[in-house]
Amino acid sequence: MDFRYTPEQEAFRTRLREWLEHNKAEVFGESTDPLADRDEDSDTRWQKMLEWHRRLYEVGYVALHWSKEWGGGGASLVEQAIYQDEVLRLGLPLYGANQLALDRIGPTLMFLGTDEQRRRYLPKMLTGEEIWCQGYSEPGAGSDLAGLQTRAVIDGDDFVVNGQKVWTSLAQRAHMQVLLVRTDANAPKHRGISYLLVDMHTPGITVRPLVQITGEADFNEVFYDNVRVPRKNLVGELNQGWQVSIATLMYERVSGGTRHPVERTINELVALARDVEFAGMPAAQHPYVRQKLAQFASEGLCLRLSRYRSLTAQLNGRVPGPESSYGKLHATELNLRVAMFADELLGPYAQLERGSVGTVENGRWPYRVLRARGLTIAAGSSEIQHNIIGERVLKLPKG
Ligand SMILES: Cc1cc2nc3c(=O)[nH]c(=O)nc-3n(C[C@H](O)[C@H](O)[C@H](O)COP(=O)(O)OP(=O)(O)OC[C@H]3O[C@@H](n4cnc5c(N)ncnc54)[C@H](O)[C@@H]3O)c2cc1C
Repeated sequence: MDFRYTPEQEAFRTRLREWLEHNKAEVFGESTDPLADRDEDSDTRWQKMLEWHRRLYEVGYVALHWSKEWGGGGASLVEQAIYQDEVLRLGLPLYGANQLALDRIGPTLMFLGTDEQRRRYLPKMLTGEEIWCQGYSEPGAGSDLAGLQTRAVIDGDDFVVNGQKVWTSLAQRAHMQVLLVRTDANAPKHRGISYLLVDMHTPGITVRPLVQITGEADFNEVFYDNVRVPRKNLVGELNQGWQVSIATLMYERVSGGTRHPVERTINELVALARDVEFAGMPAAQHPYVRQKLAQFASEGLCLRLSRYRSLTAQLNGRVPGPESSYGKLHATELNLRVAMFADELLGPYAQLERGSVGTVENGRWPYRVLRARGLTIAAGSSEIQHNIIGERVLKLPKG
């Protein structure tokens, strides 16, 4: 690894930082933490996210990692790493309002879609005119995704889809969806799946929001009742959708290891420890608290260094593989432990949510405690990431 930046890269960082700070203040106002701030209703927050996306697009920051050929920034890997550092430092979303489209679905189409699909969908992913969601999980198929039962049969120029998905993030806002369906019920389960691009406004689709433990309704049940999807919306070959879905999952896990602002959260935990008491003394002076903070800070740094290591590997021409599971696993588990420790530090105050009398830091820590667990499940649970690392990275025998 080489950690020195060239003068051009430093200049890029300075320009970017100024732009981000200025525009963050204009779009998100006083909010120090746009992702955890829950003072507004969700529609207002969403409008701010769209505005943030629009600005990122206008200035060319929205998809630095996409090639120029497809309208992206065509940035070098080092510039992308600088972008991630700066955006996460400010607690901002890495991919504007269209994370799924930009971090995984767009790259999947670039890799495996047809030219027509790329021309039709990629530009509107960038502008944010079409927001995307991902229809993989079903009530009986999450970790065992290949067991999915939503069916599609060919009828003339269309597929006709029937079934149900669940936990579909952003389905209530999305215009488009990638949908995994079973197109051959008799084939072995990994071989009878196809990958479709579906307009969420097609007749027969019903979206029902699910309220989470945080009180938000970010994900949904989605029902399909004779939904007609044009055959030209098939990505890859018929019944070969498993390979396409794996490409999307790989991109998803790479993003899952990079997009959580864990170091920022750890710095906020340190600030909290300076403000509260623990066991009758200032928390930041208590040896147990200090040990914990030091442990978190070291792990946060390790996480960043492992991101740089993977970057170095990519600079040397290697494609991200199953080791991306490590970043996803470590980032989300560390994030959970940090939130749980804040809970311990706050003691009974951890029960007080936003808006309650006596709440600390406007209730953002209780919110994070409730939210952090879900992140260890989304995009493949921690147990599944352990299995992948054990079997495919460490080459251990299957459990
Ligand atoms: C915040 C959030 C957002 C999400 N967004 C989306 C989305 O946009 N689109 C989408 O399709 N899905 C989404 N999901 C669903 C997510 O992908 C699934 O919840 C996840 O894959 C786990 O599946 P499951 O819930 O069916 O649990 P199950 O697969 O039933 O697992 C239950 C438990 O058993 C464990 N387990 C299962 N199999 C094994 C095994 N082989 N070895 C060891 N342990 C095992 C799991 O780790 C888990 O603890 C989201 C989930 C969350 C929490």
